[in-house]
Amino acid sequence: MRIIDTHCHLTFFLKENRLDQIVKNAEKQNVAIISSAILPEEYNANLDISTKHANVFTSLGLDALEYDRFETAIERIRDLSSDIIAIGEIGIDHYLVRDHKERDKQELAFRELIALAHELSLPIQVHSRSAGKRAIEILRNTSADNVHMHAFDGKSSIARVASRDYGYYFSIPSSVVRSPQKQKLVRAVDIEHLLVETDSPVLAPIRGEENAPTNVWTALKAVAEILGRNVDELAEIVLENTLRLYKKIGT
Ligand SMILES: [Zn+2]
Repeated sequence: MRIIDTHCHLTFFLKENRLDQIVKNAEKQNVAIISSAILPEEYNANLDISTKHANVFTSLGLDALEYDRFETAIERIRDLSSDIIAIGEIGIDHYLVRDHKERDKQELAFRELIALAHELSLPIQVHSRSAGKRAIEILRNTSADNVHMHAFDGKSSIARVASRDYGYYFSIPSSVVRSPQKQKLVRAVDIEHLLVETDSPVLAPIRGEENAPTNVWTALKAVAEILGRNVDELAEIVLENTLRLYKKIGT
């Protein structure tokens, strides 16, 4: 049975000189990976990883705190677009950005990156820390079409509507095993719009530990248990969902 860790950051392991081991472990456990680079200076390194490893795919985005650099990011992503499968993560962070003028700038960058994804017909991975409701409002008022909300920490009632009525996808991270909020999210999201992720190196099953893409199985098993589903059957549904959204993986 195959599975895709729809969101993590492999360049972290590259810096730590442990990348090959991490990718090999994933391969052994039938885990494919969408790795997201969120700083323009990491874009090439992330692309090199996906060129070298058949089970790794690249998404390029911009850290929510780097909104001042959105023009550089857009120019670079446009140049590299034929080799990537998605744009992201992009988004807004109300936990770390409190000032309203700064939040406006962050939103502007978010909107510009959404427009780029629309122009390039690529799905987007959205970061929305403490800003789930606002992020979805912005997405609804822009040209966003293929939306993946990652590690969503907003209300499950919002996720229920966004997955069922707007067709947005939500990925459940491996921290679901210790997060009542994420467990609630699992029950709210339409099953045809459920994905799994690790967000490695963060959001490990055990708080504070380093995460790895193989833990995407931990996320999947937890989701299966919460929903009272058979693991294999759920793995198949989640894989189908992932390939429906990330069309370039299948081609
Ligand atoms: Zn992330």
